[in-house]
Amino acid sequence: MKAKPSKKLSRCPNCGHAPLREDTITDRFEYRPDDVEPLMVEARDVPVEICPSCGEKFLGPAAARVQHAAICRAVGLLTPEEIKRIRERFGPSQEEFAALTGIGVATISRWERGRMLQNEAMDRYLRLLAAHPENANALRQLRAPAEPVSLPESALAHGSRGAVSALGFRFVHPDERQLKMNKEWRPRRCVA
Ligand SMILES: [Zn+2]
Repeated sequence: MKAKPSKKLSRCPNCGHAPLREDTITDRFEYRPDDVEPLMVEARDVPVEICPSCGEKFLGPAAARVQHAAICRAVGLLTPEEIKRIRERFGPSQEEFAALTGIGVATISRWERGRMLQNEAMDRYLRLLAAHPENANALRQLRAPAEPVSLPESALAHGSRGAVSALGFRFVHPDERQLKMNKEWRPRRCVA
């Protein structure tokens, strides 16, 4: 099989014959990621163009998408189509999904186009979201601006040493925090 043409061929680059015949094949190929052992992958229904004259097969972008999905299944990751379906449930646009999940728009786009394989952590994140859609509300709350906190008068009084909240956290007045920082960062006098 020859290199992948960017679009459908009008004639065979090998022998010049036209037209080519469209077909699908089962393609077995070796997937060689950087950090793990090479893996044999079987992709079914890979669209190809076959030359009836010399018998050469040509694969295009559509074939690459099928091969990529086969790799995803072989390594146990969501396929681009599955990622897109999850995104559309919560997005529906890539921008909205990015705002919800904190994943970059460019990254989501690359996953959905099969240009990049998501890592296992991201794959699990997407699966958890799909299995428990109520978590989208928790994500939205993370992104919501913080509620203004009402503080006891004693804590707000200038010069106060602070107050202890109901949870036991000591509230440090912003001025006090600033003083502490100033003290900590006071430059040393240089003794000649
Ligand atoms: Zn040919």
